[in-house]
Amino acid sequence: MSDSRPAVSPFRRAATALVQWIDSDYCPEGAEKMRAEPDRVDWVRVMPFVFLHAGCLGVIWTGASAFAVWTAVALYFIRMFAVTGIHHRYFSHKTYSTSRFGQFLLAVFAGTTVQRGSLWWAYHHRHHHLHSDGPEDAHSPHVHGFWWSHIGWITSRRNFPTDYSKIKDLAKYPELVWLNRFDLVVPVLFAVSLFGLGAVLERFAPGLGTNGWQMLVWGFFISTTFLFHGTGCINSMAHLMGRRRFKTDDDSRNSAILAFITLGEGWHNNHHRYQSSTRNGFYWWEIDPTYYGLRLLAAVGFIWGLKPVPESVLAEGARADHAASVEAARRAAALHPEISHSSLKRVVPAAAAIAVATASAAQATLPKKADDPAIHKDVTELAHELNPPKPPVI
Ligand SMILES: [Zn+2]
Ligand SMILES: [Zn+2]
Repeated sequence: MSDSRPAVSPFRRAATALVQWIDSDYCPEGAEKMRAEPDRVDWVRVMPFVFLHAGCLGVIWTGASAFAVWTAVALYFIRMFAVTGIHHRYFSHKTYSTSRFGQFLLAVFAGTTVQRGSLWWAYHHRHHHLHSDGPEDAHSPHVHGFWWSHIGWITSRRNFPTDYSKIKDLAKYPELVWLNRFDLVVPVLFAVSLFGLGAVLERFAPGLGTNGWQMLVWGFFISTTFLFHGTGCINSMAHLMGRRRFKTDDDSRNSAILAFITLGEGWHNNHHRYQSSTRNGFYWWEIDPTYYGLRLLAAVGFIWGLKPVPESVLAEGARADHAASVEAARRAAALHPEISHSSLKRVVPAAAAIAVATASAAQATLPKKADDPAIHKDVTELAHELNPPKPPVI
């Protein structure tokens, strides 16, 4: 497809980037053309992001207080819940329902995470699921390398526009489009509020030893920078580090460490296997704080229609775990044959018999690939109605 429009001059590109600080949808040369460009860091456009990191250095002048540090920690986890529970499990995958006003409140809350608008986030995330670890995946560590998948991809000019045609179920709400277009508004209000809170505390609770600038540096700059990198770990580390329970057609992995950092998103292989579930920790031992938080919101009636993991997927996971543990035992026995002939075997023949029986049973059910239904890049369920009738209370 040819484009007769002249190439964009560097000056024009910089001017466009400046306007985009305020209006993310400003794109005179056409968003489609911008998305078709090769990857290239847009230094003017990413200055607010650089500023976010540079703001952390403000601690040199403001110092620290226990109150400010704990505020930063609390805001990290509260807003990580917004990243995972709202940007991801609501807007990207629609794993639960809420009212239109509730949806607006969720988008505002998610805006405080400073990860651009929920629609931009959802568009890119759905794209990731459609092309996971393939050449088109914007942030695959296997295709683009670790640093690009962690941070580089969001600095690339081609990744700035939101393709509203790919998220029609969300783009039909003008209030969401507005928040997405002017995605600087909520973060600025949030930062100003933190400064104001610090100033009020300095005046009325001087014993806390904090002030406006200190709360701005710790509550906004430091906490938000950590929040960004914690989230970025899912794009980079969750496709490199951990265990693969399900043989998905990407390299997603499950990691308890990443699950702790991201309040449950570290069960990423589970999520790639079945994206429509509200929970990413499929079993009780896979700690998923985001899911627990969403259960709380459901208990008070703010959200509803949380989607479970299908029994067939749970059974498939259980079979895969069983097969993996038997395989591990077989490898251990091969590495240490003395154990299999040891006195232990004579002492506990029953245990050996059980182990043999278990291994035999596992051979019969060892899955070669994921069971039916076939692994699906199921971003297909996203066009469902926003407000289905509330299910009856059980
Ligand atoms: Zn992934
Ligand atoms: Zn996802």
